[in-house]
Amino acid sequence: MNYNLKEDTSPPGSPAAIIGAGVAGLAAAVRLAVAGHPVTVFEGAASFGGKMQQFSLPGGYRFDAGPSLFTLPALVDDLFRLAGRVPQDYFRYERLDPITQYFFSDGTRVAAWADTEHFAAEIEEKLGTPAAQVRAFLSRSGRSYEATAGTFLHKSLHKAGTYFNRETLKAVAALPALGLTGTMHRRHEKAFKDPRLVQLFDRFATYNGSDPYQAPATLSLIPHLEHGIGAFYPEGGIYAIASSLARLAQELGVGFRFNEPVEEILTAGGRVTGLRTSQGRYSFPLVVSNMDVVPTYRRLLPKQPAPERTLRQPRSSSALIFYWGVGAEFAELDLHNIFFSADYKAEFDAIFQQKIVAADPTVYVNITSKKTPEDAPPGHENWFVMVNVPHDQGQDWEELTRQTRAAVLAKLSRTLGRDLEPLIKAEKTWTPPGIAQDTSSFGGALYGSSSNNALAAFLRHPNFAGRLPGLYFCGGSVHPGGGIPLCLLSAKIVADLIA
Ligand code: FAD
Repeated sequence: MNYNLKEDTSPPGSPAAIIGAGVAGLAAAVRLAVAGHPVTVFEGAASFGGKMQQFSLPGGYRFDAGPSLFTLPALVDDLFRLAGRVPQDYFRYERLDPITQYFFSDGTRVAAWADTEHFAAEIEEKLGTPAAQVRAFLSRSGRSYEATAGTFLHKSLHKAGTYFNRETLKAVAALPALGLTGTMHRRHEKAFKDPRLVQLFDRFATYNGSDPYQAPATLSLIPHLEHGIGAFYPEGGIYAIASSLARLAQELGVGFRFNEPVEEILTAGGRVTGLRTSQGRYSFPLVVSNMDVVPTYRRLLPKQPAPERTLRQPRSSSALIFYWGVGAEFAELDLHNIFFSADYKAEFDAIFQQKIVAADPTVYVNITSKKTPEDAPPGHENWFVMVNVPHDQGQDWEELTRQTRAAVLAKLSRTLGRDLEPLIKAEKTWTPPGIAQDTSSFGGALYGSSSNNALAAFLRHPNFAGRLPGLYFCGGSVHPGGGIPLCLLSAKIVADLIA
């Protein structure tokens, strides 16, 4: 598959416009500024960050609105180093241990320790699966990551050069030996007998909004990110990633035009020539869209032929989030907490087949005040309570939100042995239509298209527009995918393509 139909002939150091100041847009701005391009970022919202926003609720509760789990921090450090800065002068983080507290529906509790030996011993003690099996699985997950990441994540998958080299052929040839054929769930079922351990590892499919019962086994390399390389917490919360990158971009001379949504990408003579906003028309030989690729084509390029097959790929899941200021402390909870459903298959069927919210959903509770006490008043906690749900296809979200809130409260109150509702002192909700409206993500999908088939990686939109030289794409809706690390890699691929 080679989409590179026309070459971009813009001169080196040409001015570049970036549409959107999400994490990938910020990273692309930094990379292009370092490479000598004058860069202007057009952002429709009042500030940078996109899904990586923060806000406060009355009573002194701060929240990260979107992402909460952070892996591969080196990709952020790289941007500061690239600009000749010391990363720690801008951005600091700590490695988490434990990473997550898991609560199973049968009452079993498991701490996911960062250290493999410790984690494997915990699994043996709590679930009875021999530690050696856990170690072997994680080691294979690590080998899978090493064998495939360089090819599938770090380069454009849509340039002939990526296919016809030894590294790629080696990566593809390694898949069967690594057990990376079939679905992720099958892979985990083969590795473990205990359905709770299968559920624990299946959960990693949700890291890119996919269904473990459909997603390819290659996704079982995701646990390596957490258990091999580590999960991290940025000082001050996830928003620090966006704010430190925005600061760096400003220091590098990047111009930010907030509250200025782009209304059209301008073209002439078969290439991109600039863009139009309500403030006027701007001439740019290079335009990088960090906006979701579907509305980029539908709204900003309505007259251009759109890559329909790519744009019609099934979307990833979305989320229903309850932000609660909680007037109590829960010693048994940590930064990341998962309360599993009793029937994981039924839950994913609800999301991806019936396109509703499961009656008994898995609930994720993130509490940053465990790490940043100033995020809640003394004796209180800030709970980010998230359920995976389908992307918006016109469902009755008011009713689904009401039902889900009741189910979540009942489940958490039952598991924790305390009536939660009276403890909620402040509250806000974010639904799929709200996510779509606030960030222009198509259907409010968190990660662009889903990875629910073996070809999904190849069917994601490339980081460039084959028929419109000068137009590039970064962010969670294009290659290599959603989530902070992949968004950062998309910016690197764009900068490499432009260079
Ligand atoms: P986005 O954040 O989507 O930002 C796009 C920007 O473009 C926005 O600022 C928008 O205003 C702007 N824009 C859109 N249209 C226009 C226009 N026409 N003109 C100008 N500007 C425009 N990832 C993780 O790694 N870990 C997690 O734990 C995690 N959890 C998540 C939980 C939630 C609730 C959500 C919503 C996401 C989560 N993600 C997580 C995914 C992660 O947040 C995203 O993949 C990533 O932040 C997307 O970044 P992006 O660069 O694609 O841009």
